Amino acid sequence: MAALPLPPSADVVIIGGGVMGLAIAYNLARLGLTRVAVVEATYLASGASGRNGGGLRQQWSTEMNVRLMQESIAICAAFAQEMGINVWMRQGGYLFLMRTEATRAEVERNITLQNRCGVPTRLISPEDARAIVPELDVDRFTAASYNPTDAVVFPWPFLWGYAGAATKLGATIHTDAAVTAIDRHGSDFVVTTARGTITAGRVVNAAGAWSPRVARLVGLELPNWPARHEILSTEPLKPFLNPMVSVLESGLYFSQSLRGELVGGITLHEPRTDDIKLGSRLAFLRAMATAMTELMPRLGDVKVVRQWAGPYDLTSDGSPIVGEAPGLPGFFLCCGFMGHGFMMAPVVAKYYALHLLGRQTHPFFEKWRLARFATGATERESMIIG
Ligand SMILES: Cc1cc2nc3c(=O)[nH]c(=O)nc-3n(C[C@H](O)[C@H](O)[C@H](O)COP(=O)(O)OP(=O)(O)OC[C@H]3O[C@@H](n4cnc5c(N)ncnc54)[C@H](O)[C@@H]3O)c2cc1C
Repeated sequence: MAALPLPPSADVVIIGGGVMGLAIAYNLARLGLTRVAVVEATYLASGASGRNGGGLRQQWSTEMNVRLMQESIAICAAFAQEMGINVWMRQGGYLFLMRTEATRAEVERNITLQNRCGVPTRLISPEDARAIVPELDVDRFTAASYNPTDAVVFPWPFLWGYAGAATKLGATIHTDAAVTAIDRHGSDFVVTTARGTITAGRVVNAAGAWSPRVARLVGLELPNWPARHEILSTEPLKPFLNPMVSVLESGLYFSQSLRGELVGGITLHEPRTDDIKLGSRLAFLRAMATAMTELMPRLGDVKVVRQWAGPYDLTSDGSPIVGEAPGLPGFFLCCGFMGHGFMMAPVVAKYYALHLLGRQTHPFFEKWRLARFATGATERESMIIG
């Protein structure tokens, strides 16, 4: 099938066909702005959006993140019905295990906040954690926090769902269209891609870990940076694990998908670099095998069938970068989503579209603005895994 030619112009060009770019395109089109083009360097889901763990949680340390995620989970729960696509969503909860008293004190504060927002998280003993997941060896832990309404999804169908619905409404999506230059022509941008050029009054940089490179095309330096995160999948097992299980101090996490595989990762810190490394390593397999079998000894016999890596898109305070870039009218940012952008995308994209249309804004445009790094007006989100 011949690829759709690029339109000569659009109202909004979105750079990046990950979950952010596609969800913004869908929300704009749903609100009536259909002259929207998404340009993606390779294929949809090639970035972090196609490589992640699919976890959706409401256990956060700032009220804005808790409330955003309550709304995002509601959008995700309605997604399959609305888009006519199975997203394999399972609301089995998130069980965070912790080792130290310091972590426990911090988590207790967060739970008070989450409960005030209506999220039913509770601090439980290691024995109570074992009552939820009997296979756990909880000897090394002081406590756990458990919210039964957190969830896991299969990420890919979200991209197909957003892409299909946006296209039906009139937006266009162009793969193999890497953006190589962005020039100003009056108040417009001329976006040059591997498949031709598009002129648009507004451009959204939703290129995830690649967003600093895209920003440099307009002479803008962004403070976010990429970090490789590895992940694996086992053979399918008989269903036994309801919640996503995670260890706060090590960044270990894994869940059982509706298809039976255990899918999870662990944080391995590497020196900071601008390179986007997506190779898989034995060092990860070793760390993951050790951590998983320590936590759940019966997993020693389980076969790993696949391992891969994806790029986290990190910022120094753990929050994203959104809104119009200072001094660059019409150039918008939607990046720096750390290791939690998948779960945030449905709700962030909803408000992003309203903001672009000038109909409504959300406090995150103030809190997550680029200028906060220069002024030091940052608020650290502490529930960052990885
Ligand atoms: C291993 C791993 C596990 C994770 N687990 C979770 C989780 O459990 N829950 C959660 O919420 N989040 C998780 N995340 C984070 C989540 O995947 C990301 O935050 C989210 O997918 C970011 O979406 P995005 O659209 O901003 O970026 P991406 O999905 O990376 O999309 C950016 C796109 O831009 C394209 N692009 C780059 N340069 C150009 C260019 N020059 N021109 C055109 N296009 C370009 C890329 O090809 C890419 O497709 C995880 C991430 C990883 C790596």
